[in-house]
Amino acid sequence: MIESVKNVLIVGGGISGLTAAIALEKAGVKTEIVELKEEWNVYGVGIFQPPNALRALNEIGVAQKCIQQGYSFSGTAFCDVNGNQFTAPNNPKIDGYPGLNIISRRTLHEILLEEAETCGVKIRMGETVEEIDNQESHVNVKLTDGSTLTVDLVIGADGVYSKVRSLLFGKVEHEYVGQACWRYELPRPKELTNSVLYYGKKAKAGLVPMSEEKMYLLLMSAEPGNPRMPEDRMHELLRDRLQEFGGMVAEARELITDPAAVVYRPIFSFIMPSPWYKGRTLLVGDAAHASTPHLGQGASIAIEDVIVLAELLEKESDVQQVLQAFMERRFERCRLLVDSSHQLVKWELMEWEGQSLDDVNPGKFSHFIFEKMNEAI
Ligand SMILES: Cc1cc2nc3c(=O)[nH]c(=O)nc-3n(C[C@H](O)[C@H](O)[C@H](O)COP(=O)(O)OP(=O)(O)OC[C@H]3O[C@@H](n4cnc5c(N)ncnc54)[C@H](O)[C@@H]3O)c2cc1C
Repeated sequence: MIESVKNVLIVGGGISGLTAAIALEKAGVKTEIVELKEEWNVYGVGIFQPPNALRALNEIGVAQKCIQQGYSFSGTAFCDVNGNQFTAPNNPKIDGYPGLNIISRRTLHEILLEEAETCGVKIRMGETVEEIDNQESHVNVKLTDGSTLTVDLVIGADGVYSKVRSLLFGKVEHEYVGQACWRYELPRPKELTNSVLYYGKKAKAGLVPMSEEKMYLLLMSAEPGNPRMPEDRMHELLRDRLQEFGGMVAEARELITDPAAVVYRPIFSFIMPSPWYKGRTLLVGDAAHASTPHLGQGASIAIEDVIVLAELLEKESDVQQVLQAFMERRFERCRLLVDSSHQLVKWELMEWEGQSLDDVNPGKFSHFIFEKMNEAI
């Protein structure tokens, strides 16, 4: 283990922050998380876990728990607007893992939080960083409660609007791609045993089983200009945008009645130029690269980031070597994912504007990227 990294401050207790803390504690490094939220309020809709995410989570010992508490199958089926399948569910696999596991975000959070607590990770809620002062041998950090810390490394795992990124690099633009994602949790019909994407003329819908009892409906729609949505009408707006779909989506549409249960997110695409560190402070996960959800891999590469970091800290002898090696292992892989996900958005927007893209096959393209993501990290 690298001698000069004994204690690490992690800013953000999301998927990458909790995973980083667990991985580092298991490698013998003391960690502390500062999380902006006063209390956890992770929403219930699900997250895609492809084989590379499960492989990375296995490094901290939680992949099997995710599979047991999620819903696994061979992959996503691609269909027309009425549910007539044109690509079978058959994602590329890594030995020992299903083609796809879906887990509720809340359940994933509970698994990671429990593991972090077992490992002795200290978590301060309702807190963030105010100042970061990188020195050659350590980092001095001032928190918003006025307290100060001296640590060997700071990890910015504070998501797409990262404060650590602003403190390090100033304002960095992230591109709104012109689409938003709508999600809604519903009971799972028995016949839904894998995720299904419905390609419409104006939008893309999906049904995703999350457990024996639950599924969620998703919708990707064009929302030019990133409009502010009226909270009390979210259910109506989602139902309006689902009108063109038949099959199981049409049945699910009838059950959308609660505006507060609609999870709406505008979609960004963004990757920081290399390097993602300054001195002894490193960005990981969405703070460094936020991909659109079209390949369901944003969290996978966030998890991979911190697994690679922990591995390098165990192997290399110098912090700057660790950070340089980290960039060599992570940058191109993350860029491939961010750019490929954004490419899918561009094709969808062109189709929804009425352009015909006969030579484009999103299913084949996604399959190719999944194969790349299954390569060793
Ligand atoms: C609609 C949508 C669907 C998606 N679906 C998938 C999917 O199916 N599969 C997949 O792999 N990925 C998916 N993603 C991407 C995935 O959600 C993200 O890549 C992942 O959550 C990144 O994890 P993170 O820990 O880096 O950031 P986040 O999950 O954003 O966590 C950041 C944490 O930091 C905290 N925080 C924020 N600011 C501060 C601060 N200043 N100080 C302290 N704490 C702070 C936040 O409260 C939060 O707890 C999707 C994304 C979207 C938008």
